Amino acid sequence: MADGESSEACPEPQPLVHHEKLWFEDGNVVIVTDDCMPFKVHRTILASHSGVLRDMFTIPQPSYTPEHLYDGCPRVDMQGVSSEDLAVMLDMFYNGLPTTGLRRYLQARSTPTWNTVRVMLTLGNKYDVDKLWKEGIHELKCTYPTHLHQRLEAITGFDCIALDDWLDLISVVNVTKNLGPEVNWFYLNALYDCCQVYTKEILSGLEIDSGVEGPESDKQKVVLGSEDQVAVLDGRTKLLQVHYKNMGLVFGADDEVGARMKCSRKQDCEALVRHFRFTPVQDRISDTSKYDPLHVHERHTWFRKCCDRLCEGCRTHYEAMDLQRRQKVLDELERYF
Ligand SMILES: [Zn+2]
Repeated sequence: MADGESSEACPEPQPLVHHEKLWFEDGNVVIVTDDCMPFKVHRTILASHSGVLRDMFTIPQPSYTPEHLYDGCPRVDMQGVSSEDLAVMLDMFYNGLPTTGLRRYLQARSTPTWNTVRVMLTLGNKYDVDKLWKEGIHELKCTYPTHLHQRLEAITGFDCIALDDWLDLISVVNVTKNLGPEVNWFYLNALYDCCQVYTKEILSGLEIDSGVEGPESDKQKVVLGSEDQVAVLDGRTKLLQVHYKNMGLVFGADDEVGARMKCSRKQDCEALVRHFRFTPVQDRISDTSKYDPLHVHERHTWFRKCCDRLCEGCRTHYEAMDLQRRQKVLDELERYF
């Protein structure tokens, strides 16, 4: 266990500026985070949620010397935990997790963000907070479902967390990488998403916008580990290959057999499909989606425009065949990383 009771993490002078809301005068333990912010809270509340903290409080402690006390209470230094993250976890402990269900609690307050889910996973894992961990997993499952059609239907920011920011994508990789097999699927999906990020950002990372002006050297960055940088760059080549292969098969002879059964304008559709086949593969794929074989065919894309010219029977058939090929890429995501 990384967290013991020591007073080395944050030097004197005390008192430190304590957390505005999570400071209860009747609290009976003071947690001090890495960035030297104390939180005065209740042992019973912590113990009821966290297995690790429950164990810590049940082990008889030696009588506290003054340097192990803070504001008259035992002091616990949480190493590797920032005050921002701890505030998210404690806020969940005090304001809703046990009774209303976390998801409802979160929805009532705000759209879940990756930052909240990150705290659920990392602190849920570190302090054995089962409900937090499970909720974090649930949120990622909503974001990265196993079926492509669910993924296309989900509205980000409502049905699932919005991972629009490249910073978030890199962070998802870094967080899920070390949290065990239960999150491996999300790790692979996040690597896939990172393949869509510019090479410069993959290699040098992205700055966290703290909103505070300061020297360049003070700015914190989120950077992919070197192993993951290689995985993403190599993965891109494989994704490009499968995307070209699959888009080359669109409207091909194999797919045409099934289309004939459903076609209501045989002569027109056959002529159109033969015409579509002349389009070179590189012209079927937009430059922005070349590493994205799972991408949605939007209005302006070649495939969508072609489908719109066919009868309904043909269109639904070719779309289904295409979805099947893309689903296979998703099912075999492990092959690419
Ligand atoms: Zn047709």
